[in-house]
Amino acid sequence: MIQLKDRFDRQHNSLRMSLSEDNNYYCVYYNSSMSLKSKSDESEFLSFDNILKLIHIFVSELGINEIKFTGGEPLYRLDVLTFFKKLSEYNKENKISLGLTTNGILLYDKIELLQNYGINSININLNTLKKEKFKKIYPDTDLEVVLKSIDKAGKSGVNPLKINCTVMKGFNEDEIFDFVEFGKNRNINIRFIEFLPYTDDSRGSYSYISVEQIYKKINNVYPLVKMKSDMLDVAKNYQIKDFLGTLGFISSTSNHFCSSCNRLRITAEGNLLMCLFSTINKDVKLKNLLNSEKSDKEIANFISDLLFTKNLHHPDVEKYLLLNRNNVPNFKNEFKIKN
Ligand code: SF4
Repeated sequence: MIQLKDRFDRQHNSLRMSLSEDNNYYCVYYNSSMSLKSKSDESEFLSFDNILKLIHIFVSELGINEIKFTGGEPLYRLDVLTFFKKLSEYNKENKISLGLTTNGILLYDKIELLQNYGINSININLNTLKKEKFKKIYPDTDLEVVLKSIDKAGKSGVNPLKINCTVMKGFNEDEIFDFVEFGKNRNINIRFIEFLPYTDDSRGSYSYISVEQIYKKINNVYPLVKMKSDMLDVAKNYQIKDFLGTLGFISSTSNHFCSSCNRLRITAEGNLLMCLFSTINKDVKLKNLLNSEKSDKEIANFISDLLFTKNLHHPDVEKYLLLNRNNVPNFKNEFKIKN
């Protein structure tokens, strides 16, 4: 087995794997021109067979033991459940920890099957609990659909069940307590995540709020009790007396946690990204390697060599505001939601 370590001695055991770059919603703060239907040609994505082959290489040759499926919206990919079924068969012997990050819209009917296929950790991206605001982001869907998915997942024993709430001034800062109270009677971890500003226009004081500020606001009303957390957990977790749910704070911008980074990313097209902030390097298309004559070991060696190009941490805020990232949406004109 090859040690998946970078030049800073960080052991990598976790993979974020995007299954689709598509979303089943019209996203006002990502891209107003995004279609409500699939806009990508699925043939551009890594096939499920190739994904399984890649997972096998990462698990058997490189020691990956945790995979989180993301997107776009992963549940939007055609035949995704068939893929998860095949993966569960592979996983009978390998015991990889499997998770899913979703917007929750297509989740409700799939919860039992996902659990049967070993996907027991689900993160739901939800940035508003207000019906009207939700409707602006997802014109075709009611907030109720996601709330029902969350409650069903909780009752079905999905654990951990997490809500990812990216807090932005001028957008949902006024809902912080709504989210806190949402967790009062639900066994759920609500994670407040700092917004990562990408362009100068989104950098104004209306967009960014630190988790320290959020923590203070909440702690003034509900004293927060720190919980023990895993060294590699990016969230600092807290409890409130008599609350079933817990709160997590993720300081992705103000106090990055890159020194213990243990993850790699693969886009739906099969590009390997060392970091959330990596720009796409067309030379790192794993699809070409998977379809070549190269052995699993050769592909694993290629990946582990690439890991040596990984930076210690993401660029400073000032620098990444200037990054021209092709794989990151431009917030420039679309960020501000007009109430
Ligand atoms: S920003 Fe990059 S290096 Fe830092 S934790 Fe995220 S993926 Fe790892």
